[in-house]
Amino acid sequence: LSVSARAVRTRDGAFAGAALAYNDVTDFMRALKVKDEFVALVSHELRTPLTSIVGYVQILEEDPAIPPHAVEQLRVVHRNAERLRRLIGDLLDTAQRDGSPMPINRSDADLAAIVVESVEAARPTAAGAGVDIALTAPEQLRMSLDAQRIAQAVDNLLSNAIKYTEPGGAVTVRLAADERDVELEVVDTGIGIAPDDCDRLFTRFFRTEDAARRAVAGAGLGLSITKDIVESHGGRVDVESEVGRGSTFRVRLPSVG
Ligand code: ADP
Repeated sequence: LSVSARAVRTRDGAFAGAALAYNDVTDFMRALKVKDEFVALVSHELRTPLTSIVGYVQILEEDPAIPPHAVEQLRVVHRNAERLRRLIGDLLDTAQRDGSPMPINRSDADLAAIVVESVEAARPTAAGAGVDIALTAPEQLRMSLDAQRIAQAVDNLLSNAIKYTEPGGAVTVRLAADERDVELEVVDTGIGIAPDDCDRLFTRFFRTEDAARRAVAGAGLGLSITKDIVESHGGRVDVESEVGRGSTFRVRLPSVG
């Protein structure tokens, strides 16, 4: 039960009594408990065994006794297990916070190195999808940020750009800074997004019909988490897009965090 009280006064301000409001919050508390149980279940029953699968697959991939064709198959297992691991992470992030701000752990970091690493990690996927990746970035860009979370945001934008671009297309990543702002652009020549959808893109679980129709894998969580990460750093993320021509996702962060 939640109780709130308010003093009731006469027109000349004298105390006349008190108004008490009783609110039954049983359903709310029950919902909170269900959510906590869900988060615990997903963490233990899904994430823990998956971590062990990824670990053993990695060991087998490096075992010289394993024949090459089996190593190829193990790589597929590994890739898909990683995809599940990311999805579980995104689900936990979304359920745990449930609208509250994302906690950020800032330290001195090099944003240029984070972006370079993210682009390098995406190269095999891009090559597999027949998509070219180009990067322009300064040598170094030191600033105070949560390196892990910012890397997650860059990975999300980059993997979307590759995912939603046809073979033969290109993704261009640009990182630039002036005295006030840092700007990261992820430009693709992909399927594009209709103007109405652009407004809803950053909401949880939203996917365009086009994406769903093309059976591109995804849960619609990446962009909402990306937005939370950028905003919790005092920045903004937006999109410009044209159907059939491609999209530009732009992240702006204040230089002094
Ligand atoms: P997911 O990609 O897992 O579905 P996101 O939250 O990352 O989830 O993206 C939400 C939706 O926004 C996608 O389903 C897709 O419809 C659209 N989208 C995101 N990035 C792009 C892009 N670069 N080009 C076209 N559509 C995109």
